[in-house]
Amino acid sequence: MTYEELKTKILKANPRANIQLLDNCHLIADEIHSTQKRLSGDPYMSHALEVANILSELKMDSSTISAGLLHDVLEDSSMTFEELKEKIGEEVATLVEGVTKLTFKAKPEKEIRQADNFRKILLAMSKDIRVIVVKLADRLHNMRTLQYLSEAKRRENAEETLHIYAPLAHRLGVGRIKWELEDLSMKYLFPAEYEEIGDKIAVKRAQREKLVEEAKTLLETKLKENNINASILGRAKHFYSIFQKMKRLNKDFEEIYDITALRIVVSTLEECYIVLGVIHAIFKPIPGQFDDYIAMPKTNRYQSLHTNVIGPNGLPLEIQIRTKEMNETAEFGVAAHWYYKEGGQRDKKSENKIEWLRHLIEWMTEVKDSKEFMDLLKMDLFGDEVFVFTPKGDVFSLPAGASAVDFAYAVHSSLGDKIMGAKINNKMSPIRTELKTGDIVEIITSSGSKPNPDWLKFVRTNKAKQKIRHFLKMKEEEEEKKGRKG
Ligand code: MN
Repeated sequence: MTYEELKTKILKANPRANIQLLDNCHLIADEIHSTQKRLSGDPYMSHALEVANILSELKMDSSTISAGLLHDVLEDSSMTFEELKEKIGEEVATLVEGVTKLTFKAKPEKEIRQADNFRKILLAMSKDIRVIVVKLADRLHNMRTLQYLSEAKRRENAEETLHIYAPLAHRLGVGRIKWELEDLSMKYLFPAEYEEIGDKIAVKRAQREKLVEEAKTLLETKLKENNINASILGRAKHFYSIFQKMKRLNKDFEEIYDITALRIVVSTLEECYIVLGVIHAIFKPIPGQFDDYIAMPKTNRYQSLHTNVIGPNGLPLEIQIRTKEMNETAEFGVAAHWYYKEGGQRDKKSENKIEWLRHLIEWMTEVKDSKEFMDLLKMDLFGDEVFVFTPKGDVFSLPAGASAVDFAYAVHSSLGDKIMGAKINNKMSPIRTELKTGDIVEIITSSGSKPNPDWLKFVRTNKAKQKIRHFLKMKEEEEEKKGRKG
């Protein structure tokens, strides 16, 4: 893809795109990468263009696409962040810097590494989610061109992709990237199974295509009778999802019956259910194979109706029904957010962002499997918040303005009751110091320390307030008792 081709595509998708910014960024990237080549032999710039192209297909805004063009320049040249900022402005330069700094460790099997990866994701997210989207686009193009790497590198990258990037894409709801990352990883990690599924799908392709066509024609007529305007698409199932299903159900390929799939996209929510009724009137539903993700969306906001039916000629058929909007959420996830924002002001506090952060935190806690941790996090999540870490990499969410005392109580009440001092980013600091996102806080305790009424003037969390009041009340009662005795 040439830059001119990319530009035409971007302008077609979004006539308001900031072409001057894109031109500028392209010029800088082109100059820096001019002498570099990829292992494929292609000029390095081809990678930058493809990453930008993936971002434009996700309908990201001009700043993010520009960051895609420039995403490797800080790593691959002596140019500094300040110099880049000077040339293209703070917004894109900050995105590029974020992408450069965000690196993950492969095979996060050890809890500490897992925590480290999540901490980086969370930090990048709380600053600007677009950094993660660029990172995903970068990884996707690298996975598409993985064949040029050594066998060992291929495996390492595929494992990292399957363990970190695909789940991340899933949690952010970017289905389009998730599926492709999974299939590409599978190709290198389970080559025999990948080939086998590919072969088996190919064998009955003609039969399945015929089935899809027949079902489509039938449904189109019926939906027209009901005055419903729908687009009906045949849908290729992804190899990795078939593979997962075979493993999960311990079944052979032949026993997986929903290989053939249709998607029906309509305008309104009501129409989704009307379409469902129409389908079940024509085709016999398979019992226990219906899911209503519209009434009960998945945590990544995915919405759709799923039903499995006996289609034409007695062959099973999987059908998804959703609105255009739900379809966009399913394909683009968090990325869909910026599509509508181009040209307008970016709302940093948007509910959307908080919601994605919440999902990521839920993901973290699923992995860490600690309910108490989750309860603590939920506490003050909807206000302005800061994310603070223990020296071990556990993250705590606190309201803005929270102090080391709030943090100590959030970790454990005994820590709060005995706090004597705090090391913030390795520096001894007063316990009333306001914490910032990314701070690493170590609480110093002493058996002689106890809560002070003055703390109530600066603590922000309910937990800290309650615990301090509780302690003071106990002390008062104790003194009263003593007073009566004496
Ligand atoms: Mn790259």
